[in-house]
Amino acid sequence: MAMTRGIDETHDAALTSWLPGANAPGHDFPIQNLPFGIFRRRGSGEPPHAGVAIGDRVLDIAACRTAGLFTGLASEAAAVCGDASLNRLAALGPAHAGALRGQISALLRAGDTRIAGLPDWETRVLPRISECELFLPMETGDYTDFYASIHHATNVGRLFRPEQPLLPNYKHVPIGYHGRASSLILDGTPVRRPMGQTQASPDGLQPPSFGPCKALDYEVEAGLIIGTGNPLGTRIPVAAAEDHLFGMCLLNDWSARDLQKWEYQPLGPFLAKSFATTLSPWVITWEALAPYRAAAAAHPSGDPAPLAYLDQGSASGRAAINLVCELHLLTPAMRQQSLAPARLSRAHARDLYWTPAQLLAHHASNGCNLRPGDILGTGTISGPDAENRGCLLELTQGGKDAVVLPAGETRRYLQDGDEVILSGHCEAPGFVRIGFGECRGTVLPAVG
Ligand code: MN
Repeated sequence: MAMTRGIDETHDAALTSWLPGANAPGHDFPIQNLPFGIFRRRGSGEPPHAGVAIGDRVLDIAACRTAGLFTGLASEAAAVCGDASLNRLAALGPAHAGALRGQISALLRAGDTRIAGLPDWETRVLPRISECELFLPMETGDYTDFYASIHHATNVGRLFRPEQPLLPNYKHVPIGYHGRASSLILDGTPVRRPMGQTQASPDGLQPPSFGPCKALDYEVEAGLIIGTGNPLGTRIPVAAAEDHLFGMCLLNDWSARDLQKWEYQPLGPFLAKSFATTLSPWVITWEALAPYRAAAAAHPSGDPAPLAYLDQGSASGRAAINLVCELHLLTPAMRQQSLAPARLSRAHARDLYWTPAQLLAHHASNGCNLRPGDILGTGTISGPDAENRGCLLELTQGGKDAVVLPAGETRRYLQDGDEVILSGHCEAPGFVRIGFGECRGTVLPAVG
């Protein structure tokens, strides 16, 4: 049976925190957000453990538990928050996550004095994020990347197959490939330009060569994080799929387009993708996202109805997430001239052809077991307009039309020293804006 993870008092736009700095307008982490991450105080030598971002600080959940501040299910959930990943917390499921969120919200709410009554609370219970190291939030066994944006699929397909941009399967089956979990990296980790095999001549008549990637790209994506899994050989009904989601983060699926072009047929992307995938550090919980749901994107008339196992019926009215993703680029020359990062794209996750529940139900539809901490990338989030294109491959028409940057530079693909900055936020009338934080990475030169 599907759990209700609806709007409650933790989403109330009128809520403020007693914590100075948590109520600044436009901030990513107001009291209505409460995303989970893994941190430790820099230089403390303590093991990494779970915290919740609030304003410019992180709440140490284990420290609150030690002080006896949680009860019931929230206390059970807090008992696994000393772990170095959020996997056991995610695996407990929505009832525990919701209870912990509710009690953390109460502890941080204006007027509550329990935390401020603890000794050294400013350094021990609520250190500044800037004084902490952050770690990957999940221990991820498997990472899958979908292709859920029909705008991206069409734009990319047009470059390779002008006569048939969208393959006939697209509107029936959510397309994906199995990514590489070992090269998931955290926001801020530099990305080494990959080496690889490419074929320069379009006719395939020249021999391929091996060298540094010449068409390095980013992909603007969101990651869906699995909470409770399913046993091997079982399926997940689409109506219950969201019960298995712990939350979301931002994801940059770095892509070597020249390697990809040469290797992708017939089995899909391989080394063009497996060298790095960057994640943002904070997991925006499924509970936090309740006010920011949107109707699934309307499919063009004449499109096939989804097969029954993907049909969400009336639930499609709030099956999408109203997440806006932005991509900024900062080049070494711009940094030298103190120019602000240039925005290259802005796109809406609500425009995806497939919803999170459909991606998850499809993934498990053959009996494949999903496990806590697994990540399902949405695929590049693009939209119908030119400003919605979520990768350089689309923006430059396969490297043909250079993007002009504020310092007068141009880019077809990424150059060494370029910093890619992915950010995201949710807004809804009557609710405050919540942010996803950032997902940054700077390109390092290839090592031959
Ligand atoms: Mn991708």
